[in-house]
Amino acid sequence: MATVKVSRDTRATYDVERVRADFPILRRRVYGKPLVYLDNAATSQKPDAVIDAMDHVYRETNANIHRGVYLMSEETTALYEDARAKIASLINAPDPAACIMVRNATEAMNIVAYSWARRNLKSGDLIVGTILEHHSNLVPWQQFAKQIGARYEVVDIDDDYRLRRDQFEALLAKKPKFVALTHVSNGIGTINPVAELTAQAKAAGATVLIDGAQAVPHMSVDVQAIGCDFYAFSGHKMIGPTGSGALWGRRELLESMPPFLYGGDMIRRVTLKDTEYNELPWKFEAGTSDYVAAIGLGAAVDYLRRIGLDAIHQHERELTVYALERFDELKGVRTFGTRELSSRAGIVSFEVEGIHPHDLATLIDREGVCVRAGHHCNQPLMDRLDVPATTRASIYLYNTPAEIDALIAAVRKAQQVFA
Ligand code: PMP
Repeated sequence: MATVKVSRDTRATYDVERVRADFPILRRRVYGKPLVYLDNAATSQKPDAVIDAMDHVYRETNANIHRGVYLMSEETTALYEDARAKIASLINAPDPAACIMVRNATEAMNIVAYSWARRNLKSGDLIVGTILEHHSNLVPWQQFAKQIGARYEVVDIDDDYRLRRDQFEALLAKKPKFVALTHVSNGIGTINPVAELTAQAKAAGATVLIDGAQAVPHMSVDVQAIGCDFYAFSGHKMIGPTGSGALWGRRELLESMPPFLYGGDMIRRVTLKDTEYNELPWKFEAGTSDYVAAIGLGAAVDYLRRIGLDAIHQHERELTVYALERFDELKGVRTFGTRELSSRAGIVSFEVEGIHPHDLATLIDREGVCVRAGHHCNQPLMDRLDVPATTRASIYLYNTPAEIDALIAAVRKAQQVFA
């Protein structure tokens, strides 16, 4: 494979040390060594701004939202709805009311499976997915298809780890009703051309859900430009709190869908005979929301926008190039994923000859470097790559070339141990 080269001019303007100073956890040491956190695809670290926003709620305004007529409840409600507006604006959603606050991307995609699909799909219908899907955008469709007697078929990748467009088009020719597609692969970092794929799928008559869990944290996302029907993501992977995330959907689809969960807050009027549901977005937000997490996610959005998603993406791209160059120096190491930079996110899955990924990650950990080993909730993709698991380093806005060096040194050390 050709080695990639990119210009490093933006490094002068991207002040990574300043970014790092905002993340208190990056000051800790593990095993007496500086922490090198390279497991960002699993979850990200949090800046003071996010921790402080949540702290402020618990110390100053905390009261359940929407229901209170007193000042603190009104203040917390305003913070919550303000966070929703920020999150909607980040993905250029035309209407914040069509942005449902959820606990994570998994919940978002299950809402589509339970509320949209149960209403709109029937036995014999075709659902199209891809081999790159995280289990959370695969298992709901596979199981739903089994339950109703629909078909679930997936698009494979080519030798360069990118989706096979010929196969996608062949499946579209069978007129699928639904396409569930990831924006960025968490396993091997492929960035899918989601706007083009969505346009093709829509032209074939399908409704399209995009899993943006690995995209929104790392690049500018515009749901209107993509043209999809639903877009899902998690807050904790984008420097926000756990328990936060969003499902954006086209208003007319969300309005036509039955609620996902039933209970308080999602109602307008309840009698013993029947229930009239609340309007969007609250129809899909039954029970007490994790409003503190949502407010924290709003602060995360402010932070990411202050740094700039394009600048973050460029920073990660340069580090990815650097990481791939450094990996290429190692003997007995294979990296997975395309070398076509425009289709590549900052996720480097690799295997080292003669060392099981779990042993490798454990040895790497001893050097203070956090990476993940396993199937990454991508078991069909691991089967396709013919590996039981990989070791995965995933990069974010606070990582540095020196941290890549620490990872490479740790891999070399592990190789010596096993030699
Ligand atoms: N999709 C992708 C591409 C992911 O990487 C993940 C998390 N690894 C998810 C969905 C699920 O996210 P969560 O566990 O936050 O629901």
